[in-house]
Amino acid sequence: MTKLTVPIMVQNIEHAHSYAAKAAEAGADLVEYRIDLFTEDAKAVTELVVESPLPCIVTCRPTWEGGLYDGDEDARIAFLEHACVGVRKPAYIDLELVAYERSANLRLKIKGVVDHAEQVKGIDTGLILSSHDFEGRPKDLLQRVAKMAEAELGRVIKVAWAAKSLRDNLEAFEIVQGNYKPTIALCMGEHGLASRVLAKKFGALLTFATLSDEGTAPGQPTVQAIKHVYRWDKLNEKTKVYGVIGEPVGHSLSPVIHNAGFEAVNFDGVYLPMPIEKSYESFKATVGSWIDQKDLDFKGASVTIPHKENLIRFVKEMDGEVEPLTEQIGAANTLAVRDDGSLYACNTDYAGALDAVCGGLGILRDDLAGKSIGLIGAGGVARAIIAGFGGQGCDVQIYNRTMSKGEILVEELGVYAIDRGGSIIAAGLDKLMQSDCDVYINCTPIGMLPKIDASPMEGFAFKQNMIVFDTIYNPAETKLLKDAKAAGCKTISGMDMFVNQAAPQLELWTGQAGPMDVFREALKNKR
Ligand code: NAP
Repeated sequence: MTKLTVPIMVQNIEHAHSYAAKAAEAGADLVEYRIDLFTEDAKAVTELVVESPLPCIVTCRPTWEGGLYDGDEDARIAFLEHACVGVRKPAYIDLELVAYERSANLRLKIKGVVDHAEQVKGIDTGLILSSHDFEGRPKDLLQRVAKMAEAELGRVIKVAWAAKSLRDNLEAFEIVQGNYKPTIALCMGEHGLASRVLAKKFGALLTFATLSDEGTAPGQPTVQAIKHVYRWDKLNEKTKVYGVIGEPVGHSLSPVIHNAGFEAVNFDGVYLPMPIEKSYESFKATVGSWIDQKDLDFKGASVTIPHKENLIRFVKEMDGEVEPLTEQIGAANTLAVRDDGSLYACNTDYAGALDAVCGGLGILRDDLAGKSIGLIGAGGVARAIIAGFGGQGCDVQIYNRTMSKGEILVEELGVYAIDRGGSIIAAGLDKLMQSDCDVYINCTPIGMLPKIDASPMEGFAFKQNMIVFDTIYNPAETKLLKDAKAAGCKTISGMDMFVNQAAPQLELWTGQAGPMDVFREALKNKR
């Protein structure tokens, strides 16, 4: 079973043990004592291990391998030996492959304190041979792995490198699967989270998670996140993988709600942030490689800026199916990889917006026909919402800073709306103040965190019976909504759209209704 391991940079024994006790309480299986800066008293290192509240790894990482120890090499090895002489011994000690290969004298010393084929002292401490690259994937990565696999004294193979793309994770999984020795293969940085969370799916020896946000390597998640967001206890080799694809996605709340949703409907899935840089080529290569890696069970994704158009192009190129209105909108936010391997793309933004407004007003979608909609913005979300409301027979008036973008939307979606009894016209943002609509919808980022004092309708003369909907969900109540509420309008938050667009995604992937109360609760707890 893959061990959840908390690294501790040791300052003194009391601090290290209290941290280890907290790690045990949080659900960790193992701690790694990093003694890089705890090398004044060899006896204290023995005591650190003997009294440890959890089984431990002892590591003294030198500066030349990304650590903090800059002393003498013989002294460093002597500290590792001291870690192994007490009545309780470490589960593992970690030594860099470079150091192991460089010195026969070092190997002789280490041979006396770790388990190996000729060990007669009944010692169970395993030697982790490790290699790290904080710049990127080392060219000789696989040669390094082969050397560790062959090393007489090494029980565990460990490689870690800075990931440049989500594709790096796939190689980490292959390395874990391809070795008969227990293996740890981790990618550092925001692109490497999958290697850390899915280490359990692929049967790695361990993964690292921190108690606070300060880890010992870039990209380590917290124990709280890995256990309670990424469903560590439920992960297994069959777990299906989903994610939110975009750039940036670090701030996205989608992992919080979808993982909570999977838990609530008892679905064997996990949902991760999936950063992919802007170009179509990167999107295609990355998503294609994740789908092709069959053992990964990558079954779908939410897709956000800047890849909503790329998703449609990709699914069409792969001979998949794009839902007709989504094709008309020209932007998709949902990908499903069906059981037969075929792809399906759709857009749940427009349904999410319609349901948020109808739910908020207690009306049916058909009751929207004939309503006038003042819509601010002409970007990706506006496009989906215009198609949604235009398709319900509403008269949509677009007010956008760049008027030509609004006019393009009229050109592309106007006929579709007319066919359904609606209409779409466009004007510049300066005309907004003279407008008089039943419903106003903000589809710009004006008022979003951190600029929460801004409103796209500053100074507007709201009337009591108007409905005002802001697609922004952070903050849940924007300045626009506060002003409108104060004037007696009915207001609807982007949070309602967020949970309403997520629910059909979860339903598509799991076959079960999206648990909106659970989504709302998860968002509330996150705030
Ligand atoms: P987008 O494609 O970048 O479009 C942004 C639109 O806002 C553009 O039309 C842009 O005008 C306008 N705009 C931006 N800054 C402006 C400013 N300072 N003054 C006037 N107009 C400005 O973005 P998007 O994908 O449509 O997203 C828009 C908003 O939707 C986001 O901020 C997000 O909060 C919200 N959203 C909500 C949900 C949800 O589930 N609730 C989901 C996704 C997005 P120009 O055309 O002139 O550039």
